[in-house]
Amino acid sequence: MHYISTRGHPERRSFCDILLEGLAPDGGLYVPETYPLVDEAMLDRWRGLSYADLAFEILSLYTDDIPPADLKRICEQTYTRQIFGTREIVPVRQLESGLHVAELSNGPTLAFKDMAMQLLGNLLEYELARRREELNILGATSGDTGSAAEYAMRGKTGIRVFMMSPHGRMSAFQQAQMFSLQDENIQNIAIEGVFDDCQDIVKAVSGDAEFKRRHRIGAVNSINWARLVAQVVYYFSAYFQVTEENSSQVDFAVPSGNFGNVCAGHVARMMGLPISRLVVATNENDVLDEFFQTGVYRVRGRADTYETSSPSMDISKASNLERFVFDLLGRDASRTKALFDDELRERGSFDLSGDPAFAQMAARFGFRSGRSTHADRLETIRDTWQRFNTLIDPHTADGVKVARMRGAPEIPMVVLETALPAKFAGTIREALGREPDRPQRFDGIEDLPKRFEVLPADAKTVKSYIARTVQGAAC
Ligand SMILES: *Cc1c(COP(=O)(O)O)cnc(C)c1O
Repeated sequence: MHYISTRGHPERRSFCDILLEGLAPDGGLYVPETYPLVDEAMLDRWRGLSYADLAFEILSLYTDDIPPADLKRICEQTYTRQIFGTREIVPVRQLESGLHVAELSNGPTLAFKDMAMQLLGNLLEYELARRREELNILGATSGDTGSAAEYAMRGKTGIRVFMMSPHGRMSAFQQAQMFSLQDENIQNIAIEGVFDDCQDIVKAVSGDAEFKRRHRIGAVNSINWARLVAQVVYYFSAYFQVTEENSSQVDFAVPSGNFGNVCAGHVARMMGLPISRLVVATNENDVLDEFFQTGVYRVRGRADTYETSSPSMDISKASNLERFVFDLLGRDASRTKALFDDELRERGSFDLSGDPAFAQMAARFGFRSGRSTHADRLETIRDTWQRFNTLIDPHTADGVKVARMRGAPEIPMVVLETALPAKFAGTIREALGREPDRPQRFDGIEDLPKRFEVLPADAKTVKSYIARTVQGAAC
């Protein structure tokens, strides 16, 4: 299996090559040259597998530069009951007839990003050891990504994490989750600024090719292909749990931001998993809903990006969308490049409404979309609590709301649970006037000693902090 850029760069890369990379050299995203297809016999065989074995089977289709025995061991070491809390890893529970919730958030940081990040941590440690290399991961977070990355990389040989977050702007719980880590290889940097300042510093540091090479700077952001393929696995697992035979169709509803999670659903569907609809749920930041409803993709500016009560979906552009558009346009790399490079840069938007591709988004690729607001979230959390005695988080509530708008009565709908309510206590209190339950291991986490460095929102200062830390550790 080789990987190519959505913008047509001639180079073909292997899985482990792109494991350590972000964008392709031409600014495109890496995608597999073709999607491996699954047939009835494979689905029959996979139906009985454990989650770790299923992950191994799916990853094997996308990886030919890790010996199978090693890959199997990595999958087994990642998807354990100890790390993810249950034997199923992603148990599916039923809310009402025809409506299910797939629990992706029982991992170390209580959000679905653990599903992929835990695997990435083990893959990176393995590959870096093989190459005798080291990696310094630089990231910016407003919450879930940073903690998932830190819990996945803590204690790993050859990897150090520098995670920037806006000083004083995360929830007390999120702060405590990250800052209480005492591992030597985890560096929390609280930036005196907002999330966008943190992201600008990542861009500035990564844009300095010389610094990047000298200090082996890397990223683990949501465009990373290994993260995406890890997410494909739970679509299969959930499918097997809600169906009895491999001729049945299932719909998925996915609370979406950067389009990473639902893009994995698209990949599963392209592989032949019988998915009927892929329902994209957004909050008030509705870039994606607008695209699927109208064919217009319009990136928002900072002033038009709202702070909402489902904050992990507060995005102004959906960085993984290019992968889907590439497939939508029949894998025409020069058109993809024209849209994402030229048109977005010049106009900040592109318009497919007059293109035959627009009709195919739903008809051929199964996409539907909808938007959910703060009032919808509160109402959905209340309703789910009262009628089904189950508490869902604000992001999952956006998913449930839009699933009900866009589902079909005859097809089972699976909503992906992207976080646990304990992470977003404020909104739960607002909806229900009570505190969400918290897994016992987090009792008193806010009182633990915190380890972090406060720095000004300035790339030069951050660079010298990184350089000092990396050098200090080397001698
Ligand atoms: C990251 C995140 C999302 C958005 O996922 P994408 O892959 O960016 O679409 C939704 N909900 C929660 C809780 C998240 O952490």
